[in-house]
Amino acid sequence: MNSTEPAQRIAALRTAIQEHNYRYYVLDDPAVSDAAYDALMQELRALEAAYPELLTPDSPTQRVGAPPASHFARIQHPQPMLSLGNAFDEADLLAWHERVRRLLGADAALAFVVEPKIDGLAVALTYQDGHLVRGATRGDGEVGEDVTANLRTLASVPLTLRSDQPPALIEIRGEVYMRLADFEELNQRLAAAGERIAANPRNAAAGSLRQKDPAITATRPLRFFAYAVGPVQGADLRSQWETLRYLQTLGLPTNHDARHFTDFADVLAYCQQWMARRDSLPYEADGMVIKVDNFGQQAELGVVGRDPRWAIAYKFPAREATTRLLNIVVNVGRTGVVTPNAELEPVLLGGVTVRNASLHNDDYIRQRDIRIGDMVVIKRAGDVIPYVIGPVISQRTGTEQPYVFPKHCPACDTPLERVEGEAAWRCPNFGICPAQLVRRVEHFVSRSAMDIVGIGEKQAELFVTQGVINDVADLYYVKSDDLAGMEGFGSRRIANLLQAIEQSKQRPLERLIVGLGIRYVGSVAAQLLARHLGSLDALMNATQAELEEIEGIGPVAAASIVDFFQRPEEQQVIAKLRAAGLTLTATPPPPPQSDGLAGKTFVLTGTLPTLTREAAAALIQAHGGKVTSSVTKKTSYVVAGADAGSKLAKAQELGIPLLDEDGLRALVAALDAKTPSAPAPEANSAPDSQLRFEDL
Ligand code: NAD
Repeated sequence: MNSTEPAQRIAALRTAIQEHNYRYYVLDDPAVSDAAYDALMQELRALEAAYPELLTPDSPTQRVGAPPASHFARIQHPQPMLSLGNAFDEADLLAWHERVRRLLGADAALAFVVEPKIDGLAVALTYQDGHLVRGATRGDGEVGEDVTANLRTLASVPLTLRSDQPPALIEIRGEVYMRLADFEELNQRLAAAGERIAANPRNAAAGSLRQKDPAITATRPLRFFAYAVGPVQGADLRSQWETLRYLQTLGLPTNHDARHFTDFADVLAYCQQWMARRDSLPYEADGMVIKVDNFGQQAELGVVGRDPRWAIAYKFPAREATTRLLNIVVNVGRTGVVTPNAELEPVLLGGVTVRNASLHNDDYIRQRDIRIGDMVVIKRAGDVIPYVIGPVISQRTGTEQPYVFPKHCPACDTPLERVEGEAAWRCPNFGICPAQLVRRVEHFVSRSAMDIVGIGEKQAELFVTQGVINDVADLYYVKSDDLAGMEGFGSRRIANLLQAIEQSKQRPLERLIVGLGIRYVGSVAAQLLARHLGSLDALMNATQAELEEIEGIGPVAAASIVDFFQRPEEQQVIAKLRAAGLTLTATPPPPPQSDGLAGKTFVLTGTLPTLTREAAAALIQAHGGKVTSSVTKKTSYVVAGADAGSKLAKAQELGIPLLDEDGLRALVAALDAKTPSAPAPEANSAPDSQLRFEDL
């Protein structure tokens, strides 16, 4: 770079960042993902560090947020409201810890408070003699917007402090946010009313709080939690931990997951534990905030630019990105549901290049007005398939094309039908549609069903398009002549495949039930059906009421089963499977090894390190326990593995004990050893230096 280049680049970055700040903080309508914005900020910081003579006080690296919008009165903050420096990995966090130690001296006794960083917007509430008199947004950190009337509508913001002797004056700082479920519901409500939807819970919270009319804010599901104080008169607070406790006594909500640590290794471990829990939280958290506990030490460390030195935000990896929507294609699933998928300009997200994303259904595309050619925000969270959140309207050029959902099945041209009460379109050509058949074959031969090795997506497609099979039962009638000459099928491969097909006839009934591909019937439900009804014939003849009597089978699954067996084409498939000699009766389960788990109900979720779902279920059943598929208050334990989703969240909500694979094995081993029932392992056992609020 010559000497003008860095100055030019810095100027360009500042202009771009200021524009993004305006869109994000004032309009609540960002044009790029947070990751893209963070990258611009990082580049600017790096350039300013390399060329300190180019650093100016008005640089976005030195300022917080954006100036207040003009439709609000302005409130000067008595103490600036700051931002937070970021750590993007453990090395950044360790470097921060080292700097703190160096600045305070190696002998200083250190303690830290670690708090979840819920993604919302910062506000300051001022209470005089216990009464709420003022509420402000952060604005540019010096001057905020007067949103007192709006904040008064939030149930979690007390109008009066719960104290006989409230401090004469206290400014309480915290975050206004929206829970994920409330955010989804609000977006549905907005979409149905034809209004613009919010890109994420943060924007929804900011947009809802910063309404001109407080009556609208009152209809929005906003929450508040307190995490700090500004100026205080009439109370002597010396540490962050003490402050959080004090705020609770005043009747303010604080986050129960805040923890106090003296050992930095425990800080790191707690952050890691949180990262793993991120997907099961009822709200969006974009990281953890680590604060030096002692206020004296905080003052000593001071502030640099817009970030206090005594705190840092440990950011979780990004989950959202912005990219271009190149095209929309539809896929036909095995039950005929036609789903739209986005073809995207490849974009890096959470270490993976994303090229495709789900668009859910026709309504979703229309309500969000997603057009081909749009810049779109996509999200990838946990085990959820990446999906398109919505378009970035501000980046439209006018060339984007609205999408028209097909009226006919792209595979067999049958007119699509709308399932009553559902958003999905379906191809009703159940037995015949080649696209459905390919998916059904793939499912039928999969490991959790008939486990036929040698057939994958490619072979399934080949067999269907070449007319070798017209339904899944035809697999049992395939002859070597049918396959000879097909691409990739030599005589050895044909022999192996035919043998694998032949062997699959011995698979137990529940595997066949899975393989049939009945909607809402997975392996746990299939096991319950096989065990309770004993044969495929009994299942075919069962009424909706009889099915619902089976514990673990709900009305939706029951209705789907009845509907499935009423279809003549499915009856035909079953007749062919019967004639081919498949196992249609259940093998009685082995006698239980113990009845130590009798009366206990388990739900399995996520992927366990070594046990398959079936093996875990068998282990529980062998000791008299029951396995069901949905978490209710009656569930005794939820066994959770990697990428567990909503069931884990439900368990946490209901306070159901959690087990991992080791925990399950320990429970069973204790029974095998005939010792009195082993205690469930502590789900979240606390490290030694960790304090919870209850301990104080
Ligand atoms: P920040 O959100 O990264 O961190 C500071 C904020 O964290 C505080 O103001 C407070 O609101 C919040 N917070 C939550 N829990 C807290 C706790 N327990 N203790 C203390 N604070 C807590 O910083 P920022 O300056 O508000 O915003 C920067 C962020 O906003 C970046 O992540 C950036 O990506 C995003 N942003 C995006 C765009 C865009 O165009 N996409 C534009 C501007 C900013």
